[in-house]
Amino acid sequence: MATTPRPRPRVLILGGGLSGTLAAAALAPYSDTIDIVERHALPDTPQPRRGLPQARHAHMLWSGGADAIESLLPGTTEMWLSANARRVSIPNGMISLSPGGWYRRCWPEAQYLISASRDLIDWAVRAQALALPGVRLRSEAEPVRLLGTRTRITGAAIRHKDGSEESIEADLIVDATGRASRAPSWLAELGIPAVPETIVDAGVTYASRRYKAPVETAGWPVINVQADARLAGPGTAGSILPIEGDEWMVVLSGTRGGEPTSEEAQFVTFARQMRSPLIAEYLDRATPLGPVSVTRNTTNRRRHYEKAHIEGFIALGDSATALNPIYAHGMSAAAQGARALRDLASKSDVTSKGFARRAQRAISRPAAAAWLLAVSQDACFPHAVGGTRTWADRLATRYINRLITTACSDFTAVQALSDVMTLQTSGASLAHPRVVLAAVRGPRLPPLSGPALTPAEEAVLRGRPVPTTTA
Ligand SMILES: Cc1cc2nc3c(=O)[nH]c(=O)nc-3n(C[C@H](O)[C@H](O)[C@H](O)COP(=O)(O)OP(=O)(O)OC[C@H]3O[C@@H](n4cnc5c(N)ncnc54)[C@H](O)[C@@H]3O)c2cc1C
Repeated sequence: MATTPRPRPRVLILGGGLSGTLAAAALAPYSDTIDIVERHALPDTPQPRRGLPQARHAHMLWSGGADAIESLLPGTTEMWLSANARRVSIPNGMISLSPGGWYRRCWPEAQYLISASRDLIDWAVRAQALALPGVRLRSEAEPVRLLGTRTRITGAAIRHKDGSEESIEADLIVDATGRASRAPSWLAELGIPAVPETIVDAGVTYASRRYKAPVETAGWPVINVQADARLAGPGTAGSILPIEGDEWMVVLSGTRGGEPTSEEAQFVTFARQMRSPLIAEYLDRATPLGPVSVTRNTTNRRRHYEKAHIEGFIALGDSATALNPIYAHGMSAAAQGARALRDLASKSDVTSKGFARRAQRAISRPAAAAWLLAVSQDACFPHAVGGTRTWADRLATRYINRLITTACSDFTAVQALSDVMTLQTSGASLAHPRVVLAAVRGPRLPPLSGPALTPAEEAVLRGRPVPTTTA
């Protein structure tokens, strides 16, 4: 007996950034046409572009996000690495001062991260997604309103660069226009009640600067000095990320009262006053390549679209859940959300009743995991806005702090924390008896008095020739 073919839906994606292109990858196998409407022109090469101001800042992609992107767009990792993105092993590829002390670097690989310019990360995803059958980019165009009713979105009115307007009808509309999404007002114009919104703001200011590294960045570690929310006063933190072009992308951050500024002369001074001066000491050996870029756009803001009943509309990435970038989870949560969308679309017709709600719930799970990690820390900083802390939160924070201290000399704790931090598992895995036992037992060795450096890292720090035999 002949079976009725499944309808081939039309999809409209608003925003052609990382989430928009990943949504296209997720839905392309299950759709007839996918139109991506993007406000700006998108380059064919990894280069800066309008519409992505955060690309001036450091971006690292945890393995949980990189694996999700690879599953949606096989070959992307190879494109990054061929363009000299760095794959950094966790924990040995990191020189890291946690609130519990310096991490040792003598373990098997627990997880990994991709360190590259944001322009490179997005370019590879974009190039792959736009090559998929049925995917069409409409750049230099933007939505002016959504079409539909109080219960169902059926498309959007688009304005092109020349001022002309066009209505695009679709079975599913994905809002991927980022942190500044106007979807709440577009939905309100149709009489759709506002979704609940949660905001937690630690008042983090972010300052980034690129440097020419004094050494080849292949095999070079991420250097990371974390804030300790238990200390009085603002939390300050920083990282050096090795990226393509033998450059270091350096980011410094501070919560309210301890913010870095855009003043070039202050950049290294700020780094020198953190919990360890290591980053400043390395910067003394490197050459700045440009100005300091500053952003205060770091509020955790979650729009709970998963609680709404809107047919035909979903939101992915920052438009739904924007996170404090210090935890580097935004791209990974978006990628895992896109993977969850793909998995749902493979089992369930995109045009079916309730698809959008199920999809939004699936998308919100990884976002919620990242949200919890961010706000549980941010709510601890002085002058944080939003985010009430219950006694259970305080107990959980004490447990995590104990685990972090244990991880400085215990691989069970290292593995558990790395799995959660990279979004490979949920925070619930930290309650596994093996992990609890490790935390109860505590550190196995006394804390390190300073960073564990290789001879090459030590040589760069001291301004000596780098030994050729030891990496
Ligand atoms: C300073 C900083 C550092 C960060 N560091 C990290 C990190 O290390 N690791 C990490 O995982 N995440 C990091 N993030 C978060 C990450 O940048 C975001 O999670 C990610 O960019 C989300 O992608 P998106 O596609 O949802 O939004 P965006 O990347 O903002 O893309 C939105 C797209 O929509 C387009 N657009 C906007 N409005 C319209 C409109 N009206 N019509 C048409 N198109 C429109 C824009 O041009 C853009 O192309 C950082 C964020 C910041 C601010």
